[in-house]
Amino acid sequence: MSVTHRLTAPTPGWTATTDVVVVGSGVAGLTVALNVRKAGLRAMVVTKAMLDEGSTRWAQGGIAAALGEGDTPEQHLDDTLVAGAGLCDEEAVRTLVTEGPDAVRRLIATGALFDRDEDGEILLTREGGHHRRRIAHAGGDATGAEISRALVAAVRDDPGIELIEHALVLDLLTDAEGHAAGLTLHVMGEGQRDGVGAVRARAVVLATGGMGQVFSATTNPAVSTGDGVALALRAGAAVTDLEFVQFHPTVLWLGPDAEGQQPLVSEAVRGEGAYLVDADGVRFMVGQHELAELAPRDIVAKAITRRMQEQGAEHMFLDGRHFGAEMWEHRFPTILASCRAHGIDPVTAPIPVAPAAHYASGGVRTDRLGRTSVPGLYACGEVACTGVHGANRLASNSLLEGLVFAERIAADLAERHRAGELPERTVDVAAARAAQPVPLPPSEARAEIQRLMSRGAGVLRSAVSMADSAAGLALLAEQAHAHMAEEKPADPRVETWEAANLLLVATALVAAAAQREETRGCHWREDFPERDDAHWRRHLITTLTASGDPVSTPEEQ
Ligand SMILES: Cc1cc2nc3c(=O)[nH]c(=O)nc-3n(C[C@H](O)[C@H](O)[C@H](O)COP(=O)(O)OP(=O)(O)OC[C@H]3O[C@@H](n4cnc5c(N)ncnc54)[C@H](O)[C@@H]3O)c2cc1C
Repeated sequence: MSVTHRLTAPTPGWTATTDVVVVGSGVAGLTVALNVRKAGLRAMVVTKAMLDEGSTRWAQGGIAAALGEGDTPEQHLDDTLVAGAGLCDEEAVRTLVTEGPDAVRRLIATGALFDRDEDGEILLTREGGHHRRRIAHAGGDATGAEISRALVAAVRDDPGIELIEHALVLDLLTDAEGHAAGLTLHVMGEGQRDGVGAVRARAVVLATGGMGQVFSATTNPAVSTGDGVALALRAGAAVTDLEFVQFHPTVLWLGPDAEGQQPLVSEAVRGEGAYLVDADGVRFMVGQHELAELAPRDIVAKAITRRMQEQGAEHMFLDGRHFGAEMWEHRFPTILASCRAHGIDPVTAPIPVAPAAHYASGGVRTDRLGRTSVPGLYACGEVACTGVHGANRLASNSLLEGLVFAERIAADLAERHRAGELPERTVDVAAARAAQPVPLPPSEARAEIQRLMSRGAGVLRSAVSMADSAAGLALLAEQAHAHMAEEKPADPRVETWEAANLLLVATALVAAAAQREETRGCHWREDFPERDDAHWRRHLITTLTASGDPVSTPEEQ
């Protein structure tokens, strides 16, 4: 299989070489790079903005692992399988929960400082769907920032890791056998590596994070534009579970016209005892689920959305006034500051909250060693679909997934290197040129894609709403094709490349969501409100057709 499509871009003007090129510098990418180095391989990390600009540094609640007394990987497995609503790969989950505790200990050894009690024991909290306190946190609610700080410091300390910031990766390069052999990228800035270039490598690891920017309201930062999934599709890789987008139930509501990244009010706030109430002060989660406010996220997001519809309200409230000022300041300093920055004081007033796109449970399909369907192309972290999340991610399992599977990818690369199976690769230049150029939409398409997706393919979905989204997306694609045919294409640049990636990922997501005629996990169909195991206890595998359209095929049962 070789790359069938590529983004419209200038021919590479420079080339660099490494052993393993890692795309992305969140928990997944940096952990791969650090571990690949232990095997004596050179690593290059290329990242779109600054090293710490992915979702990792925004993670608040923490990282889940069976570290507490009485807790076991088996119990963590049970909670994960329940959240995944029948679609988890049980062996992948078992790998996650059994290797997780030691992976967290190794992260601590790398320098991440977790919150501890007076006896030095790691403090553990609870989040939705967990039956035990098993979420380790740092800086109160600044876990991701601390993990990012520690990993960034470690990679900066290693002269064998080359770091290229402000580098947007465009497409995969393969050799004559179809094995990954490097990638093309655009480096913003001055100096030798300015503009479009190529990196040659023995293997490529995608760690590009999520795709929250496909929607208008999201907790994800601006860099989360689904680039890795789009690249993988163009490279011929299989992608799966795209329809399962987790909407975080409690995102600070900033008004009806708010767009882009919006502040999260972590589940840990509910874990510590804050209530969800409607405008009349009624705790509407009580009686809906045995865990009330701590029910799995999809249940809470749906209940909030339903209540908002019933009452014609734009948001609900999260009431944590009973914590008092001291607890807010010590346990949730980040959330307190961001609420106050928006004129809400959680110490004296309930916080207005509404659901927003938060986490992509699906992604580039991998096995338990992080291998995708394209030889030599690995995927790790939120961009990957290892099978651990199924139809819905259990809170705080994603940082853990990034850690555990990054270590496994590095171990696989090390093993292949030792066995002589990781030779230098020669890029098949003719094949790269033969790949069809994808026309670029104008940069304004980004906001239109977001509107179309939030309106028709958000928390509430139906055949009618998704047909509207699909038609709007198809029109954007047609316009881009027409402009290219008229020789008036949009300029190849970061904004238009990102718009092309968003358009492809959004189109693939809607196609899969429209096909799945049931309600399961975080995929909620108003027109098919029941879970339908007889037909749908299986994955949809998405690939690109020869003409570049995403097509989803149900996996054999
Ligand atoms: C507000 C918030 C709170 C969260 N809280 C938690 C939590 O408490 N616990 C938990 O487990 N999870 C949490 N999550 C989810 C978790 O943070 C992410 O799933 C995880 O950090 C993803 O890590 P990653 O390394 O896969 O990707 P990221 O950390 O998102 O990193 C992706 C990297 O890829 C780069 N990149 C993207 N595209 C390109 C490209 N084309 N070229 C080059 N580089 C590219 C980005 O710049 C970035 O460096 C939260 C997420 C958010 C947004």
